[in-house]
Amino acid sequence: MDGLHEAASSKDVVHIHGKLFESRCASDCGRPAFADHNSYPAGELPRCACGALVRPNVCWFGEQPYQLDRIYDALEGCDTFIAIGTSGSVQPVASFVTMLKQRPQPARTVFLGLTEPANVRYFDEVHLGAAAELVPALLQSRMESK
Ligand SMILES: [Zn+2]
Repeated sequence: MDGLHEAASSKDVVHIHGKLFESRCASDCGRPAFADHNSYPAGELPRCACGALVRPNVCWFGEQPYQLDRIYDALEGCDTFIAIGTSGSVQPVASFVTMLKQRPQPARTVFLGLTEPANVRYFDEVHLGAAAELVPALLQSRMESK
């Protein structure tokens, strides 16, 4: 949600939790999310032209994450699933690995992170450590094995 993937040149990023540096109308008036460079006066709540409040374009706890259809489509065609740095305890994301292991042809599942996730039993491989070290090492080993 913080744009760091784009800053690192990642392509085709799915912002399941939204974009922190965008705002959107709190109602569904049809106004698209927008880069918000406004400075709002203290004590005044920002409002959309429709009169509803303006809020950050992010998914808060209890709300439906964004682009789930796109994610489920990607999971259907997934043969290797790599989770990096997740707690494995927040739904629906924590169930992605479960779904992949329960398919007729389960995907290979890999976890990389500092501590074991709550759903660790669904991962075929668990590598504990800093993602900055584990991700390049994993990609290098996968490229060498091809
Ligand atoms: Zn609005």
